Formats: sequence, C-alpha cells, structure tokens
Amino acid sequence: MILGVDIGGTKTMFVLYDHESFKVLDTIRSSQENLNILSDKINKIVESYNIKAIGIGIAGWVRNGILLKTPNIKDGSIRLNLTVPYILENDANCFAYGVYNILAKKDESNIRNIVGITVGTGIGCGIVIDGKIYRGKGLAGELAHITVEGEKNCSCGGKGHLESYFSGWSLEERFKKPVKEVMEENIEGFYESREFDIFVKSIANLVMIIDPDVIVFGGSIGMRFNKKIVEERLKSYILPEFDTKVILFIDEDVVAKGAIFLAKEAILSSD
Ligand SMILES: [Zn+2]
Repeated sequence: MILGVDIGGTKTMFVLYDHESFKVLDTIRSSQENLNILSDKINKIVESYNIKAIGIGIAGWVRNGILLKTPNIKDGSIRLNLTVPYILENDANCFAYGVYNILAKKDESNIRNIVGITVGTGIGCGIVIDGKIYRGKGLAGELAHITVEGEKNCSCGGKGHLESYFSGWSLEERFKKPVKEVMEENIEGFYESREFDIFVKSIANLVMIIDPDVIVFGGSIGMRFNKKIVEERLKSYILPEFDTKVILFIDEDVVAKGAIFLAKEAILSSD
C-alpha cells in the first residue's frame, strides 16, 4: 500500500493506493493545529494499513525535497517525522504528473508534454516534458509569482504577481463572494474581468514557450471553469499555428494520486 497526501492551502487529503485502486481516507483542514500533528496522523495510517511508501504533494516551493516556502499555508511550518520512506513534491507538479499518468494509461499515449495549471487557494503550475516533471533547479513553473502588472500585494510577499489578481484568495478579496458562485453566476462579468484576462494572457504566454500537447486545468476553481470560454479566450492570444488541446481535469484526488505515482517510482521501484 502507498499513501498519498495532498497538503493544499485550505485542506489536506489522504488517499490510499493498493496498486489497483485509489481510496480517499480522510480530508482535514490545513490549519496549523492539524499540520502540527500531521506526522502522528500519517504514522497512524501507516501502521493501520501497512503502508510501504508515502507521496506528499504540498502547496509550497520545494527544492531537492526540502520545503522552502508555503505562501498559501498560514505559518506553514511542517516538521515531518515519518516511519516509512516518503517523497515531498510541489502539489502542482504532482497534479501534472498525476494527469500525465492517468492520460497516458488511457488511449492518449501520444501525450508527452503537459502543462498543468491548478487554480485553488493559489495558482500552481506543473510542467511534464517527455513524461518527466521539469523542475529546473527545483522551482520551475512558479507561474503564480510572475510579475504581470501593478503593485498589488501577493501572498509570497512580492507585488503585482499573477496570483495577486487571479487565485482563490485574491478573487474572493475582489468579488467578496465564494469564487465558485462568482463563476457560475458570471458575477460582474467574471470571464470579461480584467483579472481573468490577466490570467488567460499569462497562460497563453506559457503555452507559446512550452508548446505542450495539452494544457490541463484543475484545482477546486480550475476544474469548474467554462471550458469553451477558456479555450476561446486562450485562442485569441495564442498564435494560430499552436494547436494545444485544453482539458479540464475533474478529479479532486489527482494531486494525491500524482504523489503516489512519484512515491511508487522513487521508493518502491528500487526494491
Ligand atoms: Zn507572489
């Protein structure tokens, strides 16, 4: 058995994998109180289910398995003291890798390059090139913190970053309502808003840099996008020679699944 843990900005999810199927064990709030006892909770699951390896995806900046910063988890200090081997990976990387593995196993095996964008509390971006996560020196794909315009304060401490305009936390600040509601009811012309435009332009620029087979949107907000609108708006900024496919990946557990795939390869395949 392998355990996948998805530590997001708002909630933490535990998923069990028995080499055939996935099962969500529990979901808790990503409060500091819960994060303080995270190791104990995981170690208890390890014992109960005879877990051999753990994959952890976290909404944070990870270099060489070391957590550098968690802009969207308050305080965010996490000390892991686990009884079995584990890998720690950026959650958007887990997302992209999970999507890649799930698509590659279907009849879409010609897909090699994926850009995965998660829009939840924050924005995540994972890049899979030739079936492998592209990390650069560790932090590649920090799309959330590219400078777009203005001086708006960002969760990371910077100013004018994409996430300070378009993300769960910044959109909620802007619209004073849950983002899912804003999207569904197209409040104040959500899809015509400056914020959405900034987001689409940023994604279009990224698509033209990477030229991926697919661009996949996920996360609690991203999976609820209107696909047709996103596709059309992206097309208006991407040169016509690019024919990137757009997918909305509707799967709440895919970050944990990606972390499980990574743990399986990194830890169990060496046995
Ligand atoms: Zn930032």
